Amino acid sequence: MKAAVVGAGWAGLAASVALREAGAKVTVFEAGHTPGGRARRVFHTEFDSPLDNGQHLLSGAYTHTLALMRRVGRNPDALLMRRPLRLASLDGRFHLSAPRLPAPLHMAVAILRARGLSWADRLATLRLMRGLKAMSWTPPRGWTVQHLLHYHGQSDALVRQLWEPLCLAALNTPLATASAALFARVLRDSLAGSREDSDLLLPCTDLSALWPDAAARQVTMRYGNTVRQIRPSAEGIDINQERFDAAVLAVPPAFAARLLDAPLREAGATGLLGALKAFDYLPIATLNLRLAEPWRLPEPMMMLREESARGHVGQWVFDRAQLAGDTKAGELAVVASVATGIADRNRQQTIEALIDQVAEQASRHPARLPSMPEVAAAELFIEKRATFAAVPGLTRPLNSTPWPTLALAGDWTDTGYPGVLEGAVRSGLQAARVLNPRAD
Ligand SMILES: Cc1cc2nc3c(=O)[nH]c(=O)nc-3n(C[C@H](O)[C@H](O)[C@H](O)COP(=O)(O)OP(=O)(O)OC[C@H]3O[C@@H](n4cnc5c(N)ncnc54)[C@H](O)[C@@H]3O)c2cc1C
Repeated sequence: MKAAVVGAGWAGLAASVALREAGAKVTVFEAGHTPGGRARRVFHTEFDSPLDNGQHLLSGAYTHTLALMRRVGRNPDALLMRRPLRLASLDGRFHLSAPRLPAPLHMAVAILRARGLSWADRLATLRLMRGLKAMSWTPPRGWTVQHLLHYHGQSDALVRQLWEPLCLAALNTPLATASAALFARVLRDSLAGSREDSDLLLPCTDLSALWPDAAARQVTMRYGNTVRQIRPSAEGIDINQERFDAAVLAVPPAFAARLLDAPLREAGATGLLGALKAFDYLPIATLNLRLAEPWRLPEPMMMLREESARGHVGQWVFDRAQLAGDTKAGELAVVASVATGIADRNRQQTIEALIDQVAEQASRHPARLPSMPEVAAAELFIEKRATFAAVPGLTRPLNSTPWPTLALAGDWTDTGYPGVLEGAVRSGLQAARVLNPRAD
C-alpha cells in the first residue's frame, strides 16, 4: 500500500509507524520543519540545549505512548523521569505525595496525609473519588467540572488548592466550562488505576527526541510541504494531485474542515463538516528561563499559587536543569494554562511578573531556598491554539470518513481524552487500523 500521512504531530507519526509496520510505503507531509507538531523541539540561540514549544508532562497511564516509544527503539525509562505522584507547592504550603503502596491505597493515603488541606477537605476529596466511582466515572454528559465539584461538596479552598490546578493542567479549560466527563476520565486513568498509572513522567530530553525523530527516520518525510488539496474516492486519494492508495489526515480540525470542505459537501457529510468546525481552542504559555547560576528546586515540578491581579498567572514551574541532569546553569519553565489574557498583555511585563511569582513563592519555602539567581535569558512561547476547549457535549468525530481510503487522526477525534499526547497517539493508531486492520 502506498500511504500518505498529512501532519507530523504525535497522531500522524503514530499512524505512520503502524502503517509502516503493516507493510505500507509511507510518505508524511508536514507544513513545518520539525517532527512533533504541538509537542516539538525549538532551537533558541540564548539557550545551550533545545527548548520545547511548550513544557509537557506525561503520566504512567500513557500506555500507548510508552509502548510506541519502544516500537521505534526509544527507551522511555531512560528518556522520561518517572516519579510517584507528588504535588508540592513552591511556597511549601501544599504537599500531596503518593506512597509506594498498592492501588488504590496509595491515593487514599496520599489524600489523608496531604499537607495544606483541612480534615474536612481531605474527606471531601475521598468522597468525590468514591462518588465518581459510583457513577462508573461517567458524570452526566452536560456537566461541567464546576458542577461536579459543587455536587460533591468540595470547598472553595479545596477547589483552589487541588481541583483547579489539576483541571487546568489536564484539560486546559476553566472549571466553569470544562467537561466533567473528560475530567473524570483523566482522574480514573491516572488516580484510580494502578499505582504506576498515577506516576508522573517528565521528559529529560526535547519532545521531538523522545520518539518523533525516530519515527520520522523510518518513513519518507516531506517537510515544509503544506497540503492544500485532498480528493478522496473509493479507489484512492489524491494529495496535492499525487495519487496514494490511502491517507491519514492528522491536522487540527479547523484545517481538516478547510481541506475537506468540498469533498464532504459533495458526499453529503455535512454533520462531520459541522463537527470539525465546532471546536474552539485555548492557549498555553510557557516561559523558559536561563539563570545566571545553578539553582535547584526541591522537586523537578512544583505548583505555583496564582494571583492574576499581579500577573502571577503561572500554575507550574519545572526545573529543566534537574530534568536534563545538568549541574551547570539553572533552567526553568513556567507554565500558564488557559493563558487567554497573556497574548494581549505587554510581553516584557508578563515575563517580569512570572519571574517575580517564582522568586517570591520560592522565598517562602520552609526549606529556605537560596534566592533565585538573576535571569540571563527569558523566552516566552504562547501557543494560541494549544488544545481544543474541552467543553461538555462536544461532538468528537470518529477516525473513519465516508471514504475507505481516508482516516482522520488527532487529539480532537473521539478518544475519550481531552487534548493530550496519549489521545493523539491512540487516535493515530486507530486511524491506521481504519485503513488497514492489520496495522496495530
Ligand atoms: C504548550 C502546550 C502544552 C501542552 N501540554 C501537554 C501536556 O503536558 N501533556 C499532554 O499530554 N499534552 C499536552 N499538550 C497537548 C499535546 O501537545 C497535543 O495533544 C498533541 O501534541 C496533539 O498532537 P496532534 O498530532 O493531534 O496534533 P498536532 O501536534 O497539531 O499535529 C498536526 C500537524 O499537522 C501539521 N499540519 C497542519 N496543517 C497541515 C497541512 N495542510 N499540510 C501539512 N501539515 C500540516 C502541523 O504543522 C502539525 O505538525 C500541550 C500542548 C501545548 C501546545
